[in-house]
Amino acid sequence: MTSKWVYSFGKDNNEGDATMRNLLGGKGSNLAEMAGLGLPVPPGFTITTEVCGAYYDNGQNYPQELSAQVEEALARVEASVDARFGDADNPLLLSVRSGARVSMPGMMDTVLNLGLNDDTVKGLEAQSGDARFAWDSYRRFVQMYGDVVLGVDHHEFEDVIDTYKRDNNCAQDTDITAEGWKFVVGEYKALVQQTLGKPFPNDPKEQLWGAISAVFGSWMVPRAITYRKINEIPGSWGTAVNVQAMVFGNMGDSCATGVAFTRDPSTGENYFYGEYLINAQGEDVVAGIRTPQSLTQYGREREGCDMPSMEEAMPAVFAQLDDVRSKLESHYRDMQDIEFTVQNDKLFMLQTRAGKRTAKAALKCAVDMVEEGLISQEEALLRVDPQSLDQLLHPTLDPNAVKDVVTRGLPASPGAGCGQVVFTSEAAEVKAHAGESVILCRQETSPEDIAGMHAATGILTSRGGMTSHAAVVARGMGRCCVAGAGDLHIDAKNKLIRVGDREIREGDILTIDGSTGEVMVGLVDTIQPELSGEFGVLMGWADERRRMKVRANAETPLDAKTARDFGAEGIGLCRTEHMFFEPARIQSVREMIFANDEGERRVALDKLLPEQRSDFAGLFEIMSGLPVTVRLLDPPLHEFLPHEQADIDQFAQSAGISGEDVARRLGELHESNPMLGHRGCRLGITYPEIYEMQARAIFEGALEATVRTGAAVQPEIMIPLVGAVKELEILRTKVEAIAEQVFAEKGTTLEYTVGTMIELPRAALTADEIAGAADFFSFGTNDLTQTTLGMSRDDAANFLPVYVDQGVYERDPFSSLDTNGVGRLIELAKVAGRSVNEGLKLGICGEHGGDPASVTFCEHVGLDYVSCSPYRVPIARLAAAQASISLERSEARGAKAKKVA
Ligand code: PEP
Ligand code: MG
Repeated sequence: MTSKWVYSFGKDNNEGDATMRNLLGGKGSNLAEMAGLGLPVPPGFTITTEVCGAYYDNGQNYPQELSAQVEEALARVEASVDARFGDADNPLLLSVRSGARVSMPGMMDTVLNLGLNDDTVKGLEAQSGDARFAWDSYRRFVQMYGDVVLGVDHHEFEDVIDTYKRDNNCAQDTDITAEGWKFVVGEYKALVQQTLGKPFPNDPKEQLWGAISAVFGSWMVPRAITYRKINEIPGSWGTAVNVQAMVFGNMGDSCATGVAFTRDPSTGENYFYGEYLINAQGEDVVAGIRTPQSLTQYGREREGCDMPSMEEAMPAVFAQLDDVRSKLESHYRDMQDIEFTVQNDKLFMLQTRAGKRTAKAALKCAVDMVEEGLISQEEALLRVDPQSLDQLLHPTLDPNAVKDVVTRGLPASPGAGCGQVVFTSEAAEVKAHAGESVILCRQETSPEDIAGMHAATGILTSRGGMTSHAAVVARGMGRCCVAGAGDLHIDAKNKLIRVGDREIREGDILTIDGSTGEVMVGLVDTIQPELSGEFGVLMGWADERRRMKVRANAETPLDAKTARDFGAEGIGLCRTEHMFFEPARIQSVREMIFANDEGERRVALDKLLPEQRSDFAGLFEIMSGLPVTVRLLDPPLHEFLPHEQADIDQFAQSAGISGEDVARRLGELHESNPMLGHRGCRLGITYPEIYEMQARAIFEGALEATVRTGAAVQPEIMIPLVGAVKELEILRTKVEAIAEQVFAEKGTTLEYTVGTMIELPRAALTADEIAGAADFFSFGTNDLTQTTLGMSRDDAANFLPVYVDQGVYERDPFSSLDTNGVGRLIELAKVAGRSVNEGLKLGICGEHGGDPASVTFCEHVGLDYVSCSPYRVPIARLAAAQASISLERSEARGAKAKKVA
């Protein structure tokens, strides 16, 4: 059986629909879907994503049947529009565009006006009655094809035009006549011949196959590979190629082209948001060459622009477009991003897809659409990417801060960012890697800048509109962006920005506000974000829908308060050692470590006790009524030791120890492999007085907080790095003894539990034994990943990127749980633990607790809660709700399938 490699779309032959996205790509499947809805789509055909796979699997050769199938599909297009490809009198012209399964903005290449040559241009001239239009189209085609397909640098083409304009006193491109464009076409062809040593292809078929191959070829260019890596898109998906009959937005003043979103993609506001240009062709709008005008009068007034909107300038076609907007929204039940062209007052739809939006807009659209009855609450929850909530939770500029505003551009992607000025993507990456915040400043961005944009805190451009590359990509990435700040003269070569009479150089600090478009010199104070009403509404739905609890990892009062404000339902990990680093305490901690015997150690611990007690009391108070898991001291002691000579001398002096004694003790405490050394519960086993002091501080602090708040405090005491049940038994007994002592001294008691972290493979493997001595397990997946993979968590960054690149691990296992390895240990520990202790509480407190994919895994395993850093709490709440919904849906599908079977 021969495979079907090509699918037609359009009103006369429509073989696809939106369900075929994987095969036809996003663009192709939606063109077919729109045609199926009766919307005006120029006819064409899609070469499937499977061809891309076959092409690369087969040494960049096409499947045998492809050529014949393309011929047949092309014949159908010819019949549909009543024109012929390559015909000198009545030529069919084509656009060739890529279209992967998910949209990859700007990643792949487009060729328009394909099929023009010295003969067909005459046909176009006759048909349109406009020689200038015909020759302008021809030169655009040679330029685009020469650049995208043949690889001649586009600057070289621009130089030809510039020279022509200079020699012929033309100020604008619009001053160039038909004859002028004819001359330019000749020059372009000479340029191609000179650069490549071969002529520009005249044969339309050769042009078509060249463009198809260029699209497939561009799937593997480095910028596409980078984009896929950042967005976790598998290379195996491939792209489709869409070949479509051309329509022209540049045939005069009854023609236009535009891009639009059915709602505002920055704010989510429900109005028709978009830009158009009269007498222009496709890419002019996105390229930022001319300043596009607003689609609606409302949008125009909002932006304070006096150029007429499409609604005012072309009311009849606008009404048609507005109707399409309603049809698409009610059909797709989601905000759409559309492209259209008007040719001689007739509307054509060239694309629709789910619109990329900011987190703010995603929330508003989701909540509004539930209220409008378009979608259910469950769908709304699934619509918002939990990770994107990050965008809403970061600081914005303090409105009262003093600002040195030097100019204003377009508010292209919200949020405020501050950092050092850099001019290249490479510099952005290098500085960001060194831990600096940077603002990437460019005239305009292109797909080559993806990695730098990702590394930057913010992006600033001097050219381009709200739908320019910089704006679209920054919004998708959640980077703040000010685009089209035309007052800035960005001179990347000399690493200099001029604005008025001021100069900004590489390394200077800039602040940009992507919500207002302001560009400021220097650092501007920021404030915590005010969360919108929609945020609360969606989070409320998430809380109703999720099964797992969400706690936070926090120890300072500020973090605990932030966590509670973000909806944390307790603390899942208080790392007590973090409380030891304050300057006032470090001296006592060091004295404790340097102690020569238990007596000396107890003296130092006695100094720490009141500090710890008040820390715990404060924490319990903030978390009043909620559980708080306090982990006893965990890290290797050397982390607290002085390293610099000045520090060592100062410590020796204030502790009254001789320099030699300090040096000797430092030598004794040195460990070759501290991560696997004297840390965790090993400290508690060897120096029980440390844990005894901490347990006392917890119980005394809890009782204090209970009196102060009047609400029950629920301390959960957690023993770290247990590998054998005996460790837990010994330490549990000691903790319980301290509890009895404190309760007897205070004449009162409280409820508490004692549990352990599961962060060593042996703990997971012997979980049935350990569960006998534990009230809870908290999976410490940072260490469990380190010890299961045998990869130092402090050193893996040096080689993990290569591992991820080569697909050894799909993602960094320290960020997203290695479900196949570490995950299996978690499952095993859960089953074994619950088999002996039915009520065993289970949670996770490694970094993975705030990673949506890992949260999904935790839901599947059946953990009781996840715990993550405060800012990730909303992310985890939403991810947990999504995981509950997906699990329930897949169980329902499973039950249905079983019933059918
Ligand atoms: C862990 O190991 O996962 C954990 C939470 O503990 P820490 O990161 O403090 O070692
Ligand atoms: Mg740990």
